[in-house]
Amino acid sequence: MKPPICYICDKDFRDSEEGGLVYFKKRAKDHEWDKKMEKLGMTDQPPYAGWFCGEHYEEAKKLKNLTIDEAMKILRTLFKVR
Ligand SMILES: [Zn+2]
Repeated sequence: MKPPICYICDKDFRDSEEGGLVYFKKRAKDHEWDKKMEKLGMTDQPPYAGWFCGEHYEEAKKLKNLTIDEAMKILRTLFKVR
């Protein structure tokens, strides 16, 4: 697992009670990733999941029925980053 660093603002919020991991809709390559990990018997943070701090978690969760690519594009625009 990666440390909880917000995908929007790069804040490390491991000591915070707010925020968390959001699982987005799987892309074709994410289904392949799942299958590969299952075969290897490994667990890791999926490429379709992202960490969000308390400030950005709620907005990110609203977009979890999109893929992470689509959701990040919208979130970056929404929060005016990069
Ligand atoms: Zn954040």
